[in-house]
Amino acid sequence: MRVLVTGGAGFLGSHLCDRLLAEGHDVIAMDNLITGSTDNIEHLAGNRNFKFIHHDVTEYIYVKGPLDAILHFASPASPIDYLELPIQTLKVGSLGTHNALGLALAKGARFLLASTSEVYGDPLVHPQQETYWGNVNPIGPRGVYDEAKRFAEAMTMAYQRSHGVQTRIVRIFNTYGPRMRLRDGRVVPNFVSQSLRGEPLTVYGEGQQTRSFCYCSDLIDGIYRLLLSEELEPVNIGNPAEMTIHDFATVINELTGNAAGIRYEPLPVDDPKQRRPDITKARTRLGWEPKVPLREGMERTIAWFRDRLH
Ligand code: UDP
Repeated sequence: MRVLVTGGAGFLGSHLCDRLLAEGHDVIAMDNLITGSTDNIEHLAGNRNFKFIHHDVTEYIYVKGPLDAILHFASPASPIDYLELPIQTLKVGSLGTHNALGLALAKGARFLLASTSEVYGDPLVHPQQETYWGNVNPIGPRGVYDEAKRFAEAMTMAYQRSHGVQTRIVRIFNTYGPRMRLRDGRVVPNFVSQSLRGEPLTVYGEGQQTRSFCYCSDLIDGIYRLLLSEELEPVNIGNPAEMTIHDFATVINELTGNAAGIRYEPLPVDDPKQRRPDITKARTRLGWEPKVPLREGMERTIAWFRDRLH
């Protein structure tokens, strides 16, 4: 296949490029580099099956030649980034998704949308199944991301129904691994860099909110399976091993040998209280489930951050 990955220089986008290249496909990564970085794709320079285009997908997208698939991964993905880039976040989910779908229609390409567990908002149903419609505050600070992705899902389904575009939607739950930005503000980069500097970990609120962390290679495998599948409706991909943020901080301090403990800071507005994917659909329809346990994935992630910090 010849595949376009928008957000291809980001954390997940770049891992996706690696996997697609390893599967023998030709890959074009497109990124405006506001949260992505060419560091993430530096190792692909000189690979003749790979090409990078510096472009903002909220503007008309031009790609020369045929395309078999478009994976739309462009978007800020950290709550801190949504606060700093609220309008860009809304634009890439709306205009960017529209442009990418228009390109898919023009090229006869399959389209896969990177959606998110944030479409469930602060969920009242637990664990979250794909059939749950969510509990989102449209006007809160996180609403720019949640509503952009909800709009993106609606637009994707409309292109499928009205134009017959072959579409797939993955709802991605918290994912971690090498290539996360050191200062992107999410819990994994924060905790790992704080612990490696010997500082206390900043737990927001009382740390009783839960998340379920998936290692990046597991997530990418689920996405690749979804791309090749016939699933027309959203599929959750994430690791159902749920834990409180307080317990997560304890694990990180233990793995890094950090004795500085925890410091409590205020809970951000609309921070979801609990989150865990129901992955029955991915298990039964894609034959997928996560394989990398938290400690193993975190050890690889910590090693990567340690190299960067030094
Ligand atoms: N969090 C925290 N300390 C930090 C960063 C995040 O306690 O330094 C908490 C945050 O309040 C949330 C969870 O960790 O409950 C996950 O936050 P993240 O920003 O990684 O992503 P989210 O799952 O909220 O989109």
